[in-house]
Amino acid sequence: MQTLLNESIRQIAGQLQNWRRDFHHFAESGWFEFRTATLVADELHRLGYSLKMGKEVIKADARMGLPSVQALQEQEQRAIQQGAKVEWLPHFSGGFTGIVATLDTGKAGPTLAFRVDMDALDLNEDQTHVHRPYAEDFYSCNAHMMHACGHDGHTAIGLGLARILKQYENRLTGKIKLIFQPAEEGTRGAKSMVEAGVVDDVDFFIAIHIGLGIPMGELVCGKDSFLATTKIDVTYRGAASHAGGKPEEGKNALLAAAQATVGLHAISHHSKGISRINVGVLQAGTGRNVIPDYALMKVETRGETNEINEFIYGHALGVIEGAAKMQNVEYEIELMGAAQSSKPSPAWVDFIYQQAQQHVPELSSVVKSGRQSVGSEDATYFMERVKANGGLASYLIFGTELSAGHHHGQFDFNEDVLAIAVKTLATITINLPDFDAERHQ
Ligand SMILES: [Zn+2]
Ligand SMILES: [Zn+2]
Repeated sequence: MQTLLNESIRQIAGQLQNWRRDFHHFAESGWFEFRTATLVADELHRLGYSLKMGKEVIKADARMGLPSVQALQEQEQRAIQQGAKVEWLPHFSGGFTGIVATLDTGKAGPTLAFRVDMDALDLNEDQTHVHRPYAEDFYSCNAHMMHACGHDGHTAIGLGLARILKQYENRLTGKIKLIFQPAEEGTRGAKSMVEAGVVDDVDFFIAIHIGLGIPMGELVCGKDSFLATTKIDVTYRGAASHAGGKPEEGKNALLAAAQATVGLHAISHHSKGISRINVGVLQAGTGRNVIPDYALMKVETRGETNEINEFIYGHALGVIEGAAKMQNVEYEIELMGAAQSSKPSPAWVDFIYQQAQQHVPELSSVVKSGRQSVGSEDATYFMERVKANGGLASYLIFGTELSAGHHHGQFDFNEDVLAIAVKTLATITINLPDFDAERHQ
C-alpha cells in the first residue's frame, strides 16, 4: 500500500509545484480569490467531486472585512483577464469565493473534512534576484497582493489531496469534504462558512498550515495555542471648524481617537492568561488650521481564551465610547475579523501522530504539540463547531524552510513540503476506518 501511495505522490509532485507557482504568480487577497476559486472548482469538478460553492457555503452577512462593491467588481474583471475559468465565476461573484468539494464513497462511515485557505496578503512582493519567485519568474503580478503566508501551497496541497483520494476511492468509507476557504488573513472568512453549516455533519476535522517556524520535515500534529481575537475599525465623526477663528464650533474627532488610543493601551492585563490590545492605525484630520472632524482607528484585541478576549474587548468598547463623550463626537464600530481560541482533540492528535510516525518516513520528526507561538487563526471556528457536535478536530503544521518570516515581502518556502503534506493527509484518510471502528467498539 505504501509503495503504491509513494508512486502516486511521486507522480503529482511536479503538478503540486506548478499549482503553487501559478497561485503565487496570480496572488489574490481576501474575498478577491476569483481566479483561484474558479481554477480550484474546475479541477475538483473534473475529478468527479460534488461541489457546493459561493452562497451555498458562505453566509453573506457573516463575512467580515469585506472590500467595497466597486473593488470586488474590479478584481473580478482583473481575474477574467488573468485566466479565470469564467463558467464558474457567477458562483463566486460579489465576494463569495469559497468551495466545499465532497467525495461520497457510498459506503457507511464517518465524514472527514480538511480545510485549506486560498488568500494572499495585502503586501508588495520583493522584486530582487535574491528572492526566488522573482528570479524564477513566478512572483506576484498583482500589485499589493502577495502569497507571503504559504496559502498558495495550502491550495496546491488541497488539490493534490483531492487527486490522490480519488485514486484510492475504493479503499475509503464515508464522506470526505475538502473546504477551500477565502479570507483567512485578518480572520475574516471562516465564520461565514461555519454559519452556512459546512461542518455541521463533520466527525473528524483537520486544518493545516505550512512553516510557522517549524523546521523542514517536522510535523506538529496538534497546535494548541491560538489566541481568540476581535478586529474592529472605529470611526469618529465630529465637526470641522476654523482652528483660529471659531475653535469652539469644532468637535474634535482626532482628540477622541488619540484619547481612545491611550485609554485602550491602558486596559489591564488578565491574570488568567495572555492578553493583547493594539491600535495599529490612527488616521485623522484634514489640515493644520482645521479642527479635525474625522478619525479612523484600526484596533485588535486578543486573549488566550475566549473569556479573556471578551474581557479586553468589553473594556475597549467602554474606552471608545468614553473618548467620544469627552469630545462630543459620534462614533461607529465595524467588525473586521474575529477568531476563537481552540484546543485540538487529544485522541485525534494521537491517531494522527501514530499514522505520521508509522507511514510517513519523509517526516524526520513528528511531535504532538507545537511550541507556543501566539497567533490567531479562524480555522478555530471550524474546530469549535465540530467539537461542539461531538466530533474531533486538530490543526497540523508541516514545517518547511523559509526564506523570510511570514507576511514578509521575501517570504518563500521549500516546496518539498507539499508532497509530504499530501502524503500525510492521504495516509490519515486511508487509515481512518480503523480509528473510527476502534472508537465505536
Ligand atoms: Zn498569515
Ligand atoms: Zn497563514
